[in-house]
Amino acid sequence: MLEVKNIHCAYDQVSVIHGISLHVNEGEIVAILGANGAGKSTLMRAVAGLMHPTAGTITFDGCDITKMSASKSIKLGLSYVPEGRRLFSKLTVRENLELGAFSVTDKSVVAERLDEMYELFPILKSRSGQTAETMSGGEQQMCAIARGLMSRPKLIMLDELSLGLQPSLVERVLEAVAEIRKRGVTVLLVEQMVQEALEIADRGYVLQTGRVVHKGTSQELLDSDEVRRAYMGM
Ligand code: ATP
Repeated sequence: MLEVKNIHCAYDQVSVIHGISLHVNEGEIVAILGANGAGKSTLMRAVAGLMHPTAGTITFDGCDITKMSASKSIKLGLSYVPEGRRLFSKLTVRENLELGAFSVTDKSVVAERLDEMYELFPILKSRSGQTAETMSGGEQQMCAIARGLMSRPKLIMLDELSLGLQPSLVERVLEAVAEIRKRGVTVLLVEQMVQEALEIADRGYVLQTGRVVHKGTSQELLDSDEVRRAYMGM
């Protein structure tokens, strides 16, 4: 479904991704792992069309999206939930969710998708009239994921869901991700909580200073002494 081939990315001519290749098959959860500054968010931004690689290609669902804008790639079925949630804090939960379906003009379709989100995340239904800023971190994260799903993506990219959440909430948010996949959405996940991410992912790629240094099935990565030592503190 997604194929990233040998991409290079730079900020102001400073190269930070040096030839990353990876793929995501339909129906998979794939985790991108690695320490701070490894290039995980940059990779996601490039796939989402928020920046363009200086070399290499990105193909999604058979289309070359290497130079495509973010708004066009959303229409193709790619959704990106950035790190830090970025909700509109003064808007209600419902309004935030509706913004996720900005390209849908039929109100009954939007209402149908809202109902689906309330079914997937019941807490959002009870909070629908509250402003986003009044919710807890975990609830805001659920809201951000649900907003990302409102465009009915084929692939959703989730950047650092666990950031700032207590462990019990991380588990709940990741359970929600597993549920999303059951509903037919493919998931590309960036996480620093390596163990937790690999528990729900099928495969993973470990990045280090802009390169893939390990890849494999979740089990292979969980069993790797090197990965355990470097990224799981074991
Ligand atoms: P983190 O979890 O801390 O976000 P990351 O693995 O997602 O880490 P990136 O945010 O992709 O890493 O950063 C990769 C490199 O690019 C780092 O060296 C970072 O300092 C640099 N970088 C990131 N954003 C910018 C920017 N807007 N301008 C210049 N350099 C940037």
